[in-house]
Amino acid sequence: MKTIGVLGAGQLARMLALAGIPLGFKFIYVDPSHSSPASWLGEQIVAPFEDATALQKLADSSNLITYEFENIPVSVVRKLAQTRSVFPPPIALESSQDRLLEKQFFNQHGIDTAPFYSVDDQPSLEQAIAVLKLPLILKTRRFGYDGKGQFLVKSLEDAITAFNQLGQKGIIAEGFVKFDRELSCIAVRGIDGATFFYPLVENFHHEGILRLSLAPAQVHATDLNLQASAQVGRILQALDYVGILAVEFFEKEGKLIANEMAPRVHNSGHWTIEGAETSQFENHIRAVAGLPLGDPKPRGFSAMINLIGSMPDATKVLQIPGAHLHDYGKEPRAGRKLGHLTIRADSLEELNRTLRENLDLLPLETANQWQNRLNR
Ligand code: AMP
Repeated sequence: MKTIGVLGAGQLARMLALAGIPLGFKFIYVDPSHSSPASWLGEQIVAPFEDATALQKLADSSNLITYEFENIPVSVVRKLAQTRSVFPPPIALESSQDRLLEKQFFNQHGIDTAPFYSVDDQPSLEQAIAVLKLPLILKTRRFGYDGKGQFLVKSLEDAITAFNQLGQKGIIAEGFVKFDRELSCIAVRGIDGATFFYPLVENFHHEGILRLSLAPAQVHATDLNLQASAQVGRILQALDYVGILAVEFFEKEGKLIANEMAPRVHNSGHWTIEGAETSQFENHIRAVAGLPLGDPKPRGFSAMINLIGSMPDATKVLQIPGAHLHDYGKEPRAGRKLGHLTIRADSLEELNRTLRENLDLLPLETANQWQNRLNR
C-alpha cells in the first residue's frame, strides 16, 4: 500500500485523506498542533515543520509528499524533494509565498494584477502613494492569510500607522481595485501534463475570511471561463505544476485581475466534494500519485458556506434539502474555520429557493451576503 506524506494536518489534509483512502492510500502527517483534524486519518508526527527528525521520519514512511498550506519553509520542501517526489513542485510554493514575487510572476505571464509597489522604508511608502494614489492596500509580502497582515489606507496618516504595524519593511502596496466581484479558478494538472479546470466560482468574504462560494459562477462575459483557463494554464505550464492550483481573481468590467494563488487544495473548491464529478481533493491525490485525472464537471449548482467560530445544530441544518455538513472536529474559537456546509441542487432556481427558505439557519453574514447578491 502506498503512503502519502502531508506537511500539515489541518482540515485540508483531512479532506485529502478522506478522498485518498478509498483509492488505497495511507497517510502520514507532520504538524506542530496536537489532535489536528487529520490526525484521525493516519499517523500524525507532532513536530514543527523544520524538525529534522520528524522530516526524516516523514520521508522514510512516505512514497511521495504533498502539503496543505503555503507557509511551509521552502527549504524544508526542497530538502524533502532530494529523496522523495514532492508535489506541487517547490518552485510553486516559492512563487506563492511572497506577494511581490507572485504579482511579478503573474505580470511576466501576461496576467493582469492590481498595480503594486514594493515598500521597505518611508520614502518608498510616499512614492507608492504618489504612484498608486489613495486609497490603497498595504499588505505584508509574506505570511498574510485570511485578510491578516493587511490594511486599507485612505490617508497618509493611515498609511504611516499601517506601515509601522506591518514592521516597516517587506510590505507591498497595491492599488485599490473597485472590483465587481471576486472569483476563483481551481485547476488540476497531472504528472503527464494533462490539465482540467473547474468552472469559475463566485466568492464572498467578510472581514477577510471566505464566507460563501457559489458554483459555478454565473458569468455574463461569455469568455470569462476561457480567460481564466488560459491564464491559469500559463501558470501551470510555467511551473511544470502537478496537483491542484487555486487562483483568486477580481472581476472588473468583464476582465479578470489576479490577486493571489495557492499551490494547494483551496477553501473555494470545497463545493466540489458533492458538487462536481470528481472533487478537488480526489483530483489532487490522483495528480500527485500519477493517476488519470477525473472529470471536474459540476453536478448541478452548489453553495458552500463556511462555518466560522461556532457550529450550527446538525439536527437542523441537515434538514435542508441537498445539505452536506462537514465538521472538522476543531475546538470552537472566534474567527476559526470549524467546518463547512454545502447545499447542492439540480438547478439554480432550486438552489436559490432552498437558500431563501432556510436563510435563518445560515450564519448571519452569509445570509446577508447572499441576499445582497440577489439585490445587485
Ligand atoms: P488577500 O489576503 O490578498 O486575499 O485579500 C483579502 C481580501 O481583501 C480580498 O479577498 C479582497 O476582498 C480584498 N482585497 C485584497 N487586495 C485588494 C485590492 N488590491 N483591491 C481591493 N480589494 C482587495
